[in-house]
Amino acid sequence: MTLHIPTLMLALLLGFLLLALELGVAQRRTTRRPELRIWTLGCWALLGGFMMLAARLVLPLWLSVLVGNALLCLGLALYARALYRMLLEAPPPAWLNSALAVSVLGTALMLSWPLHQRTAVLSLFNVVLILPGVWVIVRHGWRAERSLRTVAVTLGLAALALTIRAAHAWTHPDDYTDLLQASLGQGLTFLMAFMCMLGAGFGFVLAVFERVAVQMERLATHDGLTGCLNRSTTDTMLQHALERGRREQQPVAFVLLDLDHFKQINDLHGHRAGDEVLRCFARTVRERLRASDVFGRTGGEEFGLVLPRTDLAGARRLMEQVRRAVESMQAHDAHGHALRVTVSAGIAVAAPDAPIDGDRLYGRADRALYEAKHAGRNRVEHYVPGAESGFFTLERQPQ
Ligand code: GH3
Ligand code: MG
Ligand code: MG
Repeated sequence: MTLHIPTLMLALLLGFLLLALELGVAQRRTTRRPELRIWTLGCWALLGGFMMLAARLVLPLWLSVLVGNALLCLGLALYARALYRMLLEAPPPAWLNSALAVSVLGTALMLSWPLHQRTAVLSLFNVVLILPGVWVIVRHGWRAERSLRTVAVTLGLAALALTIRAAHAWTHPDDYTDLLQASLGQGLTFLMAFMCMLGAGFGFVLAVFERVAVQMERLATHDGLTGCLNRSTTDTMLQHALERGRREQQPVAFVLLDLDHFKQINDLHGHRAGDEVLRCFARTVRERLRASDVFGRTGGEEFGLVLPRTDLAGARRLMEQVRRAVESMQAHDAHGHALRVTVSAGIAVAAPDAPIDGDRLYGRADRALYEAKHAGRNRVEHYVPGAESGFFTLERQPQ
């Protein structure tokens, strides 16, 4: 059985052409993804390389060999560069550029060599250019986007196939009298290596879009300034926690926190300083929470905490800790001036035997917060049943 190399070459050419075109279309909408641009360039370089290698039928052999292999090596180096960019936001190690230069120079020096020897050495050059991409995924990207694992595997297989090709070429000179010669060994290794490169391309595109999807999801559910959940997600989490508490017969505490006289911080130190205080506050609170607690930003300088399996005593204890930590917390403005702030908190607890929905619990915590503000701020208050009627009568009075 033999594999017809010109047919394989044509199939690969078309595959890379499609991938490169599709990448070109996709990346117009993702201008903030330089790694995708670099990979697309790599794809075009590989495509150009294959075309030049195939063009030996019409071009001088030396031109086809030199330019074709240089473009292939450039494409592989760009793949590695794209992976470094995506995972480390840094260029690949400088030796990769040297390896690329050596590969191109080496090709020029090997022009007069017999094809089987040139194929063996060039295949090994390609392996050297592929491996940094595999290494950076294994070392830094294994826990990142899952599609990157397929990129590592396909690139690794490509490197393996090229190594086998090098050994095969060296030991079977008769199979390598012409690049387009039909032969099983040369056909299989060629097919395997470059199908894997094509597969790595699809994996990489998936990984980039996986990253974009995760970022989009985070934007839709989180507040960009503080990293807390946003209002609607906090509401949903509160409702889930209440339903779970009812099932498990456990109390759920809900706390509203509001920074005291925050407007003054903005007025005295500027909005950016205010933003820094909000960030610092969120960090300070988060450090004291359990993994199951939910921390959301419900309004400008107002935050909500959902505390599953927490009764009133537990919630009060935690909120006193938070209140004291905020009191002694120091944020700084751009000039290094210390910014101090205090927080008031209102707690409401849903007992497992007295079902209550999220909106009403929120209202109760708001009522307790109102009490804390009225009693002088920098305090923790909790909702007391019975106080509700007076509050709502007041609220409902026509102006
Ligand atoms: P109180 O103790 O009664 O809560 O007084 P306060 O000044 O904190 O409350 P007020 O509601 O009067 O002011 C809230 C301020 O929070 C007004 C608004 O400009 C500011 N604020 C809201 N969101 C942001 C934000 O994202 N960044 C900054 N810097 N300020 C914000
Ligand atoms: Mg406030
Ligand atoms: Mg407020």
